[in-house]
Amino acid sequence: MKIGGFLESSLIDYPGKVAAVIFTVGCTFRCRYCHNPRLVYPELYGETVPLEKIMSLLERRRGILDGVVFCGGEPTMQEDLPEVMRRVRSLGYLVKLDTNGAFPEKLAEALPYADYVAMDIKAPFGPDYARVCGGQSDDFEVRRSMLLLRSSGVEYHFRTTFHPDHLPIERSGEIERFLGAGERYVIQHASVVKK
Ligand code: SF4
Repeated sequence: MKIGGFLESSLIDYPGKVAAVIFTVGCTFRCRYCHNPRLVYPELYGETVPLEKIMSLLERRRGILDGVVFCGGEPTMQEDLPEVMRRVRSLGYLVKLDTNGAFPEKLAEALPYADYVAMDIKAPFGPDYARVCGGQSDDFEVRRSMLLLRSSGVEYHFRTTFHPDHLPIERSGEIERFLGAGERYVIQHASVVKK
């Protein structure tokens, strides 16, 4: 697993839990508001953090932390994600996965080891999807991931980041109509620089 960063504890990345956060390297999307370019653009990749160093720290922090979050970048691009999630869970941690839903097959392999998933819906499905998140974004694959998640039995929420220039909050209704009754949906606001 290529890890570009590690946060020893966070109160905001796993709902209601104290969790460590593992940031994986690589993403096929190019969201205009991305706040982790160091994990997305190969020319900006920095030093990686050895997985075993994190595993030893997690062993020592058993009973202190509730869970571990895998985010990125896009964690499902990591071949060994399911195995690493399994290992983390075997230490007694809850495991949360943050994903953009671009790789439904990989998501399916990881779901058996997830206790919670937060999945992005970047824009209303259709031509706007690629405009907002660029790169190799593909809303068909994202919709497949949504279906997988819904049938998985794993707790989840969908989430969208709004930005006044790229996807204004006024368009949230166009996304909400893709949601099922009772589905949890989180709205985030990208940070903007005041002009
Ligand atoms: S999916 Fe996430 S990590 Fe990838 S470019 Fe978009 S915001 Fe950045």
